[in-house]
Amino acid sequence: MAKRKTKEQEAYSRYLERTGFGEAPITAALIDMDGVLYDSMKNHSKAWIRLSEELGWNYSPDEFYLYEGMTGAAIIRLMMKRETGREDVSDEEAKEIYSRKAKYFIELGRVDKIEGADMMLNTLRSAGITRVLVTGSGQNSLLGRLNDDYPGIFNDELKVTALDVKRGKPDPEPYLMGLEKAGVQAANAIVIENAPLGVRAGSASGCFTVGITTGPIPEDVMLDNGADIVYPTMTAFADALTNIIAARNYSF
Ligand code: MG
Repeated sequence: MAKRKTKEQEAYSRYLERTGFGEAPITAALIDMDGVLYDSMKNHSKAWIRLSEELGWNYSPDEFYLYEGMTGAAIIRLMMKRETGREDVSDEEAKEIYSRKAKYFIELGRVDKIEGADMMLNTLRSAGITRVLVTGSGQNSLLGRLNDDYPGIFNDELKVTALDVKRGKPDPEPYLMGLEKAGVQAANAIVIENAPLGVRAGSASGCFTVGITTGPIPEDVMLDNGADIVYPTMTAFADALTNIIAARNYSF
């Protein structure tokens, strides 16, 4: 009797079908920050809600989780257009409004690391897989402590942030930039994400895209947006990672 394929093997087979790529080992991981390395989304959401209330913007309870991955300026333009019809928000105005949101985020206090993120990153490092940070964030309060919280994981040359991109997620641009920085092809990279727009960007870049539901967004929304596989927690993904890497090295 044929051995049943694991969830990981099935996901990789579907990925090879969707991309037309041949089997290839993993040599780089493109890693999102908010909701992947830091349990920061609750506070981002609270800071956006405070700003929205001040500006008289309408919002729904989980709205800002759905925008996660977009740059702050892109979220401001989207809300402005919806609430006032304005499409002429200048870079300066968006920057000024975003600085208020960034200030409210800082006022909410220090955020914790995501449980399981250390294990995930150490597994990647032990396997010799290049780590690239790919975030829509420009929040210096987190970017500035990343190397202290995750020592020896991220090279400063291998970071893509809000400051580097023109379009930002859900456009594949940030992940394509990450591939370029790492010097690897999409077939050799995995994207590690927690947001619907983030997995959409990862999937469109051609990388095998892992979605981890560390917030209120359900699994099927992640799959609908292009995640190749979804895990309920970072710890669950970290537990599976050694086998994923080994299976890709020796092929299924
Ligand atoms: Mg995220």
